[in-house]
Amino acid sequence: MAKLYFRFGTVGSAKTLNLLAVAHNYRQQGKHILLLKPGMDSRFGVENIRSRAGLEMAADILVTPETNLLDIDLVEIDCLLVDEVQFMSVRIIEQLREIAMKLDIPVICYGLRTDFRSHLFEGSRRLIEIADSIEEVKATCHFCNKKSIMNLKHVNGVATTEGPSVDLGAEEKYFPTCYGCYTRQLQAVTCLC
Ligand SMILES: [Zn+2]
Repeated sequence: MAKLYFRFGTVGSAKTLNLLAVAHNYRQQGKHILLLKPGMDSRFGVENIRSRAGLEMAADILVTPETNLLDIDLVEIDCLLVDEVQFMSVRIIEQLREIAMKLDIPVICYGLRTDFRSHLFEGSRRLIEIADSIEEVKATCHFCNKKSIMNLKHVNGVATTEGPSVDLGAEEKYFPTCYGCYTRQLQAVTCLC
C-alpha cells in the first residue's frame, strides 16, 4: 500500500521548493505525476505552483469545493503532489487517503500546520489524524535562531491575530517564528494599547 505523507512547515520553510524538486525528480525518471493545489490560492496566478525562490510549475488540478478526486483517471499516475494542503477540506483529504490506499499511488502533501492564530487548519488537522508519515520541513525563526513553529502575521508592520484565517491579501506579511518570539511580538502590540 502506498503512503499518504504530510510534510508541514511554517511560512518560508521552502515547502513548495521541496515539492517542485520531488516533481522534477519523478519527471526526470519518465514517471507521471499530478500536481494539485487549492483553486482559491491565487497569489501566483491561478494555475501555477511557484516557490518563493522563483521556480514554478503548472498545476494539473485546481481543487475546489466541487472537486471529486475519485472521478479522475489515475491509471498512468505514479505520484500525487499537493501544495498548500492546509486549505483542503476534510472530504478532499479523505479522498487522498483512499487514493493512496486503494490505487496504491503515493500522495505527498505540503502545507502549513497552523494559521497565524496558532490553530490547526482543516486540511492539516485531518492529515495529522490519518497520514502514514508526518515530517517537518524546518525553518529558522525570523527574529532569533531557534526553529520556527509559528506563523506570525503583520499588518502594516504590526503583529496581529485579527482578520480571517484564510487571507492571502497583499498588505499582510507572514513571518516564521519560534513560540517565544511569536508571543513577545503579540504582547508588544498589546502593551501599546
Ligand atoms: Zn524566535
